[in-house]
Amino acid sequence: MRFVSTRGGSDPVTFKEAVFSGLAPDGGLFYPKEQPDLRELIGRFNDQTDFRVLAREMTSALFGDEIDSAAAGRLAERAFSFSPALRPLEEGIVLLELYHGPTCAFKDFGAAFLSAVMEEFLRLERRRAVILVATSGDTGSAVARAFHRKENIEVVILYPSGRVSELQEKQLTTLGGNVCALEVEGSFDDCQRLAKAAFMDRNLKRSLNLTSANSINPGRLIPQSFYYIFAVANEGTEESPLCICVPSGNFGNLTAGIYAWKWGMPVAQFLAATNINDVVPEYLKSGFFTPRTSQATLSNAMDVGNPSNFERLLAEFEGSVRTMADLTRGETVSDAQTLETMRQVHEQQGLLIDPHTAVGVTAARRYRAMGAERVIVLATADPGKFVGTVERATGVRPQLPPSLSAVLDLPKVAIPIGAGLDELSALLKDRYLVD
Ligand SMILES: *Cc1c(COP(=O)(O)O)cnc(C)c1O
Repeated sequence: MRFVSTRGGSDPVTFKEAVFSGLAPDGGLFYPKEQPDLRELIGRFNDQTDFRVLAREMTSALFGDEIDSAAAGRLAERAFSFSPALRPLEEGIVLLELYHGPTCAFKDFGAAFLSAVMEEFLRLERRRAVILVATSGDTGSAVARAFHRKENIEVVILYPSGRVSELQEKQLTTLGGNVCALEVEGSFDDCQRLAKAAFMDRNLKRSLNLTSANSINPGRLIPQSFYYIFAVANEGTEESPLCICVPSGNFGNLTAGIYAWKWGMPVAQFLAATNINDVVPEYLKSGFFTPRTSQATLSNAMDVGNPSNFERLLAEFEGSVRTMADLTRGETVSDAQTLETMRQVHEQQGLLIDPHTAVGVTAARRYRAMGAERVIVLATADPGKFVGTVERATGVRPQLPPSLSAVLDLPKVAIPIGAGLDELSALLKDRYLVD
């Protein structure tokens, strides 16, 4: 598979090149130049197929020219010590639980695959890399956990001092080993500016093989398609294809679903469920894409006013809102509706769901009321990550997942630094430059 830029200004690159450069040189996002027809392979998966086997077969089929089958097997084994799980919720609605990974949210799938891919490529080339990530909390911890103890990889996390929760800080600062946490005197924006400045410094970038692992990396996006195919292999029937409902913010998750459809996964309809930050549902209705400043909601991982993956979605539909709207229906869900769904699901099924999943369930119920037979809803986070909101909606205080609470008792280890590039640059050279 070759990748080109959504802005059209770069030659096709290999998967490896796309993974290590992150953003395309013209500032666009990499997307697949051509989508392969994998109907035959996808049709062979069924409810007995192990997720790791599916991941291995898909990796081989997509990237066989760069990753041989032995490497694909190694990669799937090393990335996925956890699997998606299906749970019937109510008549016509099934949850696809994507939160059984180390940081209890679906972003673990992308981060785990990306780290295993980078490790594999670096091993073959006998190279090392330094991953530099600026974080406001959650994404950084998914990346740090995924890259922890990977060979030939050092991880440097920049986080704003005093501006992340205690739990988030502990997740970033207690791993040790190849993960180094830098506590930056400044805001999240300062951290991002600092990371950007480091990547712009060609000398620093080259000498350390400085690499990013942010959410627009195609190595994080592609593996998210695997769990859609897994869900359809388990729940799909030839007679009535499924609808799949995706709680969305930056629209990476939905993009991955669209890729799976392009490769031949049968699906009747996608539902793009958002909170009131609904520029994409609006676009699907009106044909006008109008980015705006995001507003804070209870499903805060979806508070995105200008979703970066919109460019990739447009590319798949060749810029036609008609074609996109035929396959994808948008639904907007308010905080009040989110809380009400959480309350009802708890009352009726005795189940706690997180606010992001609740946005999806609300949209799925609406679509069922319009006649849809069966809808799969992506459950994107463990309810235990959103204690306050879950308690407010249901009166029940959920348990913090054990893999998260375990870090609370460990000692914090972080290096305090200022927000200037000189200090960061000196520290990185000192720690990671060999000779
Ligand atoms: C990131 C995130 C989302 C949104 O996913 P996108 O790929 O950005 O659309 C939804 N739910 C949770 C819990 C998230 O962390």
